[in-house]
Amino acid sequence: MNKFEFVEKMLGQMTLAQKVGQMTQAERMAITPEQLKQFHIGSVLSGGGSAPEGNRPIDWVNMNDAYWAASMEADDDHLPIPLLYGVDAIHGNNNVLGATIFPHNIGLGATREPELLRRIAQVTAKEILATGVEWTFAPTLAVAQDSHWGRTYESYSSDTSVASSYAGPFVQGLQGDLGDDAVIACVKHWVGDGGTLHGIDQGETTLPLRELEKVHMAPYLPALKENVLTVMVSFNSWNSDKCHGHYQLVTEVLKQQLGFEGFVISDWDGIDYLDDSYAEAVALSVNAGVDLFMVSEQWQEFIRHLIEHVESGRVSMARIDDAVRRILNVKFRYRLFDKPRPSNRKWSNHKSFGSVEHRDVAREAVRKSLVLMKNDSGLLPLDKTSKVFVAGRLANDPGAQCGGFTIAWQGQTGPDSVQGATSVWQAIKGVSPAAQLSKVSDGSDASAEKHDVAIVVIGENPYAEGMGDIRPDDNVIVEAGSQIKGALKVLAPYGRSLQLEKLHPEDLNVLKNISACGVPVVVVLISGRPLLIDAERSIADAFVAAWLPGSEGAGVSDVLFGDYPFTGTLGFEWPSVESPGLALGFGLA
Ligand code: BGC
Repeated sequence: MNKFEFVEKMLGQMTLAQKVGQMTQAERMAITPEQLKQFHIGSVLSGGGSAPEGNRPIDWVNMNDAYWAASMEADDDHLPIPLLYGVDAIHGNNNVLGATIFPHNIGLGATREPELLRRIAQVTAKEILATGVEWTFAPTLAVAQDSHWGRTYESYSSDTSVASSYAGPFVQGLQGDLGDDAVIACVKHWVGDGGTLHGIDQGETTLPLRELEKVHMAPYLPALKENVLTVMVSFNSWNSDKCHGHYQLVTEVLKQQLGFEGFVISDWDGIDYLDDSYAEAVALSVNAGVDLFMVSEQWQEFIRHLIEHVESGRVSMARIDDAVRRILNVKFRYRLFDKPRPSNRKWSNHKSFGSVEHRDVAREAVRKSLVLMKNDSGLLPLDKTSKVFVAGRLANDPGAQCGGFTIAWQGQTGPDSVQGATSVWQAIKGVSPAAQLSKVSDGSDASAEKHDVAIVVIGENPYAEGMGDIRPDDNVIVEAGSQIKGALKVLAPYGRSLQLEKLHPEDLNVLKNISACGVPVVVVLISGRPLLIDAERSIADAFVAAWLPGSEGAGVSDVLFGDYPFTGTLGFEWPSVESPGLALGFGLA
């Protein structure tokens, strides 16, 4: 049976409840396998950091086996349709203990090597498949225009052409020929997420259509050409209208003009913002053309409202059929109907998960992502036999190296925060055995007699999404959906200024203390964006932007000690003053 016949036959057998269930995606914490069957749910996700107990590939495979078995039960009330399980594997399969963690996109942007992106995607696909999962919400194709945005690190570059050059190879690397080695990709967030005013997460992107196309839509074209199977809608608004309810952007532009044949998924509770009435929000979004709904906890209300809308005619049966057809098509094209239960699939629990071979690809990516910002006196590369002093808050902190979306949604800090990772300090010690780690947090144990050079690792702590925004404090963050749930949840942004000196004065202090001892200083900056670092840079003899390099700290030592050259190129303009828009508009100091 060809795709058309198969899907049409199945559609013809489905009840309204089964169709609406197929359009529903719940969060794993909020749904049991029994409920999945009872409500005919088409998809389940893990939100950032949401993992089954144990959090090893085997635990994920077991969990997915249970959901899969429930989805495949056949009886009078239930049609066997395998579920799709989605995760945010955005820099490796980053929710899972022991996974290979790649640099976040901002670091990859500095490599300018699309071919490397393909290999990263292939490794990531295998580490996703090792857990019995088949779908990742990646790659992010945001073109971040303002580094105050907390998601800047998810963006390859502020330059559209860089993101466009990566989109095709990355999607190819994930989806391949949709055979046993493939996972389903999801380009996000459609569209204009990187263009919001002052970089406010989920904010307003105000642009004429032509500019939106040129800057923010362009990277989607190569992904569509590679037959990317899914697209996620963005939280932001375009010219005051939320993308989640935007018929023009979702149906007219993406599906009709650009010919996208896969399905469109909403972002996490993203429809909640469309209207004070949840029922109305559901109708607006379905009618705008969203096909699958990430309705983390309130999926039962979603189902109830959508069925009522169809019965009342507010949503047409044709729209439902279009959405379900698209979802079934994707499942068919991915050959999900032919796949055995997750535990019997080729890559499940595979020993390559977190292997040296995989980590070598990540290490290569780290080396190529490093940008040399200053080396006036030719201090770098360092001699492995010199007496190296290592200091700074983030020197022995793989969690900080990995950033947000690593094990936990907001990331974690500390020496043991990422299993299997190598910190920058451990990597240095590995190549320069005489290296010493500072025993005090302010670096004051440096000494010119004992040390030839200091490597000081400083920068940002992990964060994700709006919690990473740099905003004035009168501009708070309201958690998605909380206005509808009745208890408004207000969250704090990362800080009020891009100046590292203001965000982390202790970092400048360490540099001053070490420099005062007469030890030359190499700064390694861990950050999810360009920061204002003039004070720190002026003290440093050499300065390296390492972005959020991930689990392989040895990629940093490889280059510091000259085994490989610096080749990274900035993907973002490095600012020297706080952007005037934010300063004037919001009264920042
Ligand atoms: C993010 C998405 C992510 C989703 C699922 C949302 O908060 O905006 O990028 O895919 O959560 O975790």
